Amino acid sequence: MAILEVHNLGKNFINHYLGTTRQAINGISFQLEKGQFIGIVGKSGSGKSTILKSIYRTYIPNQGNILFESERFGRLDLTKATERQVIYLRKHEIGYVSQFLNVMPRRTCRQLVEKAVLEMGESDFRAKCQAEAALEHFELDPSLWDTFPNTFSGGEKLRLNIAMATVKKPRLLLLDEPTASLDHQSKEKVREVIEKLKASGKTLVGIFHDITFMDNLCDQIFNMSTKPTIIKAGVRNES
Ligand code: ADP
Ligand code: ADP
Repeated sequence: MAILEVHNLGKNFINHYLGTTRQAINGISFQLEKGQFIGIVGKSGSGKSTILKSIYRTYIPNQGNILFESERFGRLDLTKATERQVIYLRKHEIGYVSQFLNVMPRRTCRQLVEKAVLEMGESDFRAKCQAEAALEHFELDPSLWDTFPNTFSGGEKLRLNIAMATVKKPRLLLLDEPTASLDHQSKEKVREVIEKLKASGKTLVGIFHDITFMDNLCDQIFNMSTKPTIIKAGVRNES
């Protein structure tokens, strides 16, 4: 059964100063089975990020539906979910990872991951155990655990971001250009991390500027550049 169904999604941004409307996306449809990985590709400005942010409800689209199979709420249209539902989902069911590490200063890597567990209402002890397990799983060197992440490399920051998101065990994980500014070696590492996430049964939606090194991991590839079309098998394309 599909865990995520995007139907005819559209989003316009209105510029109130200029009185103009920019259509960021229009008529986007795809669906994703549990455990699948869909890669969204396309040039800058083609609307990739708008799709992801609509799923995470940073933006409310002005057209279409996003049906999410929630553990807590059952089948839910994210475009119509209440604020309370959105807060719950972000805490427990939908994770968002970008290349940027937006975290509180003066907290160590370990404290940041522990905090993510504590926010779910877990005990200090469980937070400690789960944080260490996540940091180990995503191969952050133990010598980094008690240091501040502002000095981390791009790849290390990203893996910390992934640890913070996945420690909440979301059923859906959104990856917003995770590899954007990484060198080849770090990209390979991220590939391994994504492979691990897939192996653990996570459902993933990822944005990639260049998908070549990722494409055999994806179950579907959604190309925004060539008029929204699915260019990999196993998928339906509504036109
Ligand atoms: P991509 O992720 O493919 O680079 P985006 O989804 O970020 O593309 O952007 C799609 C279009 O929507 C772009 O023209 C962009 O400028 C516009 N856009 C995105 N977010 C906003 C916003 N918050 N306000 C106004 N325009 C936006
Ligand atoms: P990202 O986190 O991927 O940078 P943003 O939404 O911040 O995504 O920006 C994506 C694109 O949308 C960029 O090209 C940016 O210039 C444009 N954009 C973002 N906010 C606005 C805005 N308020 N007005 C116009 N364009 C915007």
